Amino acid sequence: MIALCVHGGAGDRQPSADDARILRALEQALDAGWAVLETGGTALDAVQVAIGVLEDEPLFNAGRGAALALDGSVELDAALADGASLRAGAVIGVRRVRYPIAAARAVLDHSPHVIMAGDGAERFAIEHGCDPVEPAYFVTERARAALERYRQQHHRVELGTVGAVALDVRGHLAAGNSTGGVTGKLPGRVGDTPIIGAGTYADRRVAVACTGYGEYFIRVGAAMRLAMLVEMAECSVVEAADEVLAQVAALGGRGGMIALDSAGNVAMPFTTTSMARAWRRSDGSGGVALFPSRS
Ligand code: ASP
Repeated sequence: MIALCVHGGAGDRQPSADDARILRALEQALDAGWAVLETGGTALDAVQVAIGVLEDEPLFNAGRGAALALDGSVELDAALADGASLRAGAVIGVRRVRYPIAAARAVLDHSPHVIMAGDGAERFAIEHGCDPVEPAYFVTERARAALERYRQQHHRVELGTVGAVALDVRGHLAAGNSTGGVTGKLPGRVGDTPIIGAGTYADRRVAVACTGYGEYFIRVGAAMRLAMLVEMAECSVVEAADEVLAQVAALGGRGGMIALDSAGNVAMPFTTTSMARAWRRSDGSGGVALFPSRS
């Protein structure tokens, strides 16, 4: 069994003219990651490739088009976790690397560290072949308008982080996430996305990528909690994901997650109005959706 799920963020979207483009981008990400898995590539590579496609689509809150901090600046976070080896790499607050997920991969592959931040992370990533860009590359009119709405109404609904989880032909799992954080965040704020065990985690049993109001996911240690529920409490991945979201909700937080286990079972719950998501498994099942499914 091989399997791949991608998400384009939990949020409170209403149906809009952008929906078709969002669904198409999710399918393109799925196709790109699937091509890796189908030809015997690793779950880690599939996750990175799928996320790279979504980082290039400005409708998502990752890479170009990402959410802006209160001062109008962009600070991007990303993480990758490899379940088979328990290796992980993440970057925090980068603004000069075109694909933050590639920078996370550079940390995983080439550094003795797990998380690197700011200038040092950027320099390291560029030295290891990541594409450099100027910070202005990431800023779109749409993100500026979202920040303006936030400044005026303090109303924050534009999530749209991206992530992926994969199971490869060897039975290995991987997870990744990439985000601009939340619109109007204080400069320097760090969410759950780059924190291994909070927003992103993979081990031999499960891979999970969370999305939502990151502070709550950090406080419950969401991704690691899911893994522990599967390992120690023998929950299914579906039960564990629901339980973690219930614990996030108990603190007043909302969001969603995509999770996969080593048998290819998929969980994609969310407590927001919408969560962009797509999945495919080698048994022929799959789909793409933005809103709750009726079944
Ligand atoms: N979890 C991300 C953060 O708090 C935001 C998101 O998922 O959209 O930075």
